[in-house]
Amino acid sequence: MELLFLGTSAAIPTRRRNVSATAIRIEGNPAWHLVDCGEGTQHRLIGSGLTLSRLDTLFISHVHGDHCFGLPGLLATASMQGRKTPLRLVAPAAIQSILEVMLPATQTTLGFELDFIALETLTQPLSIADFEVEVTLLEHRTDSYAFAFSEKRLEGQLDTARLKREGVPAGPLWGQLARAETVEFAGKRLDGRDYIITGRAPRKAILCGDNGNPECLTPLMPNTHLVMHEATFLQAHLDAVGNQHGHSSAQLIARFCQKHQLPHLVLNHFSARYHSAEGMTALQSEAQSVYEGSLVLANDLHRVVLNKHFELEQYAPQEDH
Ligand SMILES: [Zn+2]
Repeated sequence: MELLFLGTSAAIPTRRRNVSATAIRIEGNPAWHLVDCGEGTQHRLIGSGLTLSRLDTLFISHVHGDHCFGLPGLLATASMQGRKTPLRLVAPAAIQSILEVMLPATQTTLGFELDFIALETLTQPLSIADFEVEVTLLEHRTDSYAFAFSEKRLEGQLDTARLKREGVPAGPLWGQLARAETVEFAGKRLDGRDYIITGRAPRKAILCGDNGNPECLTPLMPNTHLVMHEATFLQAHLDAVGNQHGHSSAQLIARFCQKHQLPHLVLNHFSARYHSAEGMTALQSEAQSVYEGSLVLANDLHRVVLNKHFELEQYAPQEDH
């Protein structure tokens, strides 16, 4: 499971950090998904290896501009590049209203359908390419959501010992069962899924919108390996001004993740006041003082891969030549 950080700044872009956007996919698979689409997200995608033609589902966590102002431009570019496949857009209902005004007013016609799903109406986990996605409401100045991505298909090994025990001969039948197909054998129907052993649990990562109360994530936490969450401020700032803006400190989210024994915490959405080396060190120290798992402060265009052993690999962007 791979995350590519396309924007890690809160509210405004700065020299090294653009506003919110994160791509997620199963590493090596062509389909990918986008969580939030701050202004300039389409620029960040250039050279990333991800193309708008393979974007499967676009999630918007909440309506604040630093999370959605990049949407019309990205959609228009996808259309001009010839996209015809419908695009699933999962977002607050207000986003649909914005696009219904914005696109006609700018004489923008999309060459593909938008399959819009309003977050307010979502009651079941969503099934998208490679993932099941659970959604939960957070606490912010407007409705803001977290998305828990669990991988759907696990590679497995055929339980050959059981097949031999049951007298199923090696050959084409084994091949069909290995592809999780149902076959007829000796008057019985055998479901391939019953003959595949998966050696590991599905990887699960929660990608969060803005949130002032990490406890909101509690229902999503079981079996989670990674949380990506905002650390807009240092705790001293929240202590001084209060939490009326609905944001978290590095300490607040780190303490919550420590309580849940979370293996990997990724912080993002940093206020511009901390973008200096000293500021980032302060955020990191604050989180590390209460959290013992692996900690990443996301940088634009860096990637992390949660590998099949549930370890986190980190990759800096390759230099342009
Ligand atoms: Zn916000």
